[in-house]
Amino acid sequence: NRSSAPANQPPLMKEVFTTTDEFETGSDSSHYTGVLDIPAQPRLARPPRSRRPQLNPDEAADILRGLRAPVTVVKGVGERMQKSFDKLRVHSVNDLLRFYPRDYDDYTRLMSINRLRPNEKVVVVGTVQQTEILIGRNNRKDFKVVLDDGTGLLNVIFYGQYFMGRYIKAREQIVLRGQPSIFGSRLQIANPEWEHLDPNNLQQVSIVPVYPLTEGLKAQGLRRLMKTTVEYWAERLPDYVPESVLDRTELADLGWALKNIHFPEGMDHLGHARNRLVFDELLLLQLSILNNRRDWQSVPADPLHVDDDFTDQFLQAVYPYQLTGAQRRSIEDVRRDIALSTPMNRLLQGDVGSGKTAVAVTVMAMAVANGKQAALMAPTSILAEQHYRNISDTLAKMLGEIQPRVALLTGSISSAEREAVYTGLADGSINVVIGTHALIQEGVTFADLGLAVIDEQHRFGVEQRGTLRGKGKNPHLLVMTATPIPRTLALTLYADLDLSIIDEMPPGRIPIETRVIEPVARERTYSFVESQLREGRQAFVVHPLVEQSDKIDARSAMEAYEELSTVFFRYKVGLLHGRMKPAEKDQVMSDFSHGEYDVLVTTSVAEVGVDVPNASVMVIEGANRFGLAQLHQFRGRVGRGQHASFCLLIPDNNTPEAQQRLQALEEISNGFQLAEIDWKLRGPGDLLGTRQSGSMEMRLADFITPQAAELAQREARTIFEEDPYLTAPEHQLLAQRVQLMQDERSDVS
Ligand code: ADP
Ligand code: MG
Repeated sequence: NRSSAPANQPPLMKEVFTTTDEFETGSDSSHYTGVLDIPAQPRLARPPRSRRPQLNPDEAADILRGLRAPVTVVKGVGERMQKSFDKLRVHSVNDLLRFYPRDYDDYTRLMSINRLRPNEKVVVVGTVQQTEILIGRNNRKDFKVVLDDGTGLLNVIFYGQYFMGRYIKAREQIVLRGQPSIFGSRLQIANPEWEHLDPNNLQQVSIVPVYPLTEGLKAQGLRRLMKTTVEYWAERLPDYVPESVLDRTELADLGWALKNIHFPEGMDHLGHARNRLVFDELLLLQLSILNNRRDWQSVPADPLHVDDDFTDQFLQAVYPYQLTGAQRRSIEDVRRDIALSTPMNRLLQGDVGSGKTAVAVTVMAMAVANGKQAALMAPTSILAEQHYRNISDTLAKMLGEIQPRVALLTGSISSAEREAVYTGLADGSINVVIGTHALIQEGVTFADLGLAVIDEQHRFGVEQRGTLRGKGKNPHLLVMTATPIPRTLALTLYADLDLSIIDEMPPGRIPIETRVIEPVARERTYSFVESQLREGRQAFVVHPLVEQSDKIDARSAMEAYEELSTVFFRYKVGLLHGRMKPAEKDQVMSDFSHGEYDVLVTTSVAEVGVDVPNASVMVIEGANRFGLAQLHQFRGRVGRGQHASFCLLIPDNNTPEAQQRLQALEEISNGFQLAEIDWKLRGPGDLLGTRQSGSMEMRLADFITPQAAELAQREARTIFEEDPYLTAPEHQLLAQRVQLMQDERSDVS
């Protein structure tokens, strides 16, 4: 209420008040009064199903092919606009239809200014009452707008954007999207998204899509373009998902879903539309992966025969400890796979420290006992070296006629050594090789590669996996990862891999004590770290990637490094960040593991599974910015020796959501449980983010729920089992659509 404005109002506001009347009396008929006449939102419990138009198959196939046409076939898209779309990675008609809104303005939930509250994301519509340029700190020129919606006035500031006066003028009606905050004693919105109000949006629709924009694409024009495009295609596009599947799953029609994801009639409609389209993405992805798998599995592998008592004898000879039940189960899974002439393609998931190496070594021994070669590829040379030492020690204890010769192949060995390894692999005198990307270089040939193992597989692309496989006739493949991905999601994303999970830790591990620390207690945290250093331990301090830019990221890590060098001036502090060359990173990691640094300041690159048993503290700054799975990975870097270990989480923004997540980390030490929780709380983005780029282009990734994944998986397998080549008449269009997806995917990789 204006009259009750506090007395300590900045002088600026007075001016605003004096000009108010002038505008209000200047009877502008379009003046927004703050009370919109918008129809109540329609509800929709179930998506409607309509009868399909009877298209003849050729016609339908033709229309579907139209999805591949470049965007320029759309009326109104010229070369200039094509360039803009290029930047948004929209190239074809299909891309355009899948260019889903990143948000929606729900005009039925429009907030009037007198009801705004701080820190809640809102949409506000109002008339610009006044604009002005303010001179801020350091002579920065800010642009200020006073917005009136008939219920109150709102200050809107565009920091540093004095030029906005060219676009926003008094008396214009605009729509703002942003989050009010308290400034002085009033609410204001800083740097909101905005656009001019299109009166049609108020009168005809209640939910308005918000598309990503770029230079040359304006909100309203794009919306109009999308509207005509979506309407045109939604009417014509034949639904490639068989009717029987839609009946079973109670999903919406394709055309209806397309219309409603772009221009929802109501929020229920939007939900149903998303369900359908998420289902499509997952279904197509799986069918395409299953298709690939069928192709490469059609080339037989040499079966490896393993006697029943081999595993027991081997394990007894080489390990002082008993394997856990989960390790043994995984070994059995593999043994069954490799006995077949279909090449194995198995993913071994196990938390950090769960003992995946022992499984890998046992399987490599099986290959060797069959007179085959085995290779293990790791993402960094330090990791490869660690595996090399470990595995050659272990295999040296192997019984039997064959005394395996184990070699190391990384970028850092001398060229003479490299030549020797090349020769040994080619003539078969080397049985086992451990290495990095160096293994998939052209010069490397194997006499008879029977088994390939990839450690930390998410660090490698699909192609690199393929290249390693290509080094043998068609070797069995075991890929390992410590990134816990919930089972349903893993089965969906890696539909071509069989899954073994080590869900049990070797006995006798001291749990890592995990604590969330308030930023104000940072000093105390540092003294705690120092007390550990005094006892001879080492510490990691992780800094989040604040910006999506390596450069800025490196700078902030650098600053942290300098600060911590002062804090721990008695100790040696090292720095590791994303901008360093792989060789530099390796050097720093190896120096740290040899104790040449006491504290290692690092950005997320330290994820890689290097063992530093002497490290007992992991401090994570900005902990709220990481996904739980990732935090759990970091935590796994400590507690690898016999020392009690600690993980200290310092959030920089302690929202209730962040609190809940970090608390989960305090209480739970099982990575899979944490991944499930993360999935529920934040969607699968973090889990997918760990995957290499290009392997999946999921526009709706945030909406993959466990139910959606399960549903798509079930349907994909049913279809695939009934008709693996998708040749049945009811699968023709689906086959065509899968092919389109495969072509798109091979374009991005
Ligand atoms: P990761 O799954 O992270 O690769 P590793 O294979 O490096 O884990 O194993 C972690 C540690 O646990 C190693 O030191 C290994 O020797 C030890 N280990 C593995 N399996 C067992 C077991 N069954 N009992 C006791 N210690 C084990
Ligand atoms: Mg490992």
